[in-house]
Amino acid sequence: MPFLPDNYRHIRKELDECGVSLVAVSKFKSQADIVQAYEAGQYDFGENYVQELIEKQKALPHDIRWHFIGHLQTNKVKQIATLVYLIHGVDSLKLLLEINKQGQKINRIIPCLLQVHIAQEETKFGFDENELFNIDPESFSHVEVKGLMGMASFTDKQDIVRAEFKNLHRLYSLYKLQYPSIHILSMGMSNDYKIAVEEGSNMVRIGSLIFGERKA
Ligand SMILES: *Cc1c(COP(=O)(O)O)cnc(C)c1O
Repeated sequence: MPFLPDNYRHIRKELDECGVSLVAVSKFKSQADIVQAYEAGQYDFGENYVQELIEKQKALPHDIRWHFIGHLQTNKVKQIATLVYLIHGVDSLKLLLEINKQGQKINRIIPCLLQVHIAQEETKFGFDENELFNIDPESFSHVEVKGLMGMASFTDKQDIVRAEFKNLHRLYSLYKLQYPSIHILSMGMSNDYKIAVEEGSNMVRIGSLIFGERKA
């Protein structure tokens, strides 16, 4: 399925009205689909795979801001260090240190979000509450930790999703109080972005509602 302009305009208007940023998740979508969204005024795109991000970045307009939203392997940081606008899913100290090291090499302070584990599923990546508060986000010379990111459980039980987002927002507020450089809370996807926004998200990552269902 291609870009869905009416959905896009509707969501964009809804989010603009409450000051929430939109990352259009374009993984597995063609360059032509992305160009359509770009021409409709979308500049922030999210990708999950390093190779795909590199290829699209090379081919598409250079004022696009590429967000890396997938699980990033330490050995691949180097490949996106110059290209990426914001890395959402930083989920270990090891990864944070590697991003810092690559930033140092290219003399760039790389913007990142720390991923917090809020879902009940064990498969989701991220720091738990204790680990999060053991990280001083201001202690890295070449990483700028701008905020937190999280994913709710994959369930249609809205009360569970809401409770998880509420919990992430609580952690975000505490972390922000301690570290004023924290100002982004990335939570909410196609199925749950309305709940996420109600619970205090200021950046949502939406794929299928804008680009249609993915095959993979
Ligand atoms: C794929 C993906 C999204 C977008 O999912 P949709 O349900 O298509 O909106 C958002 N965040 C992350 C981390 C993803 O991997």
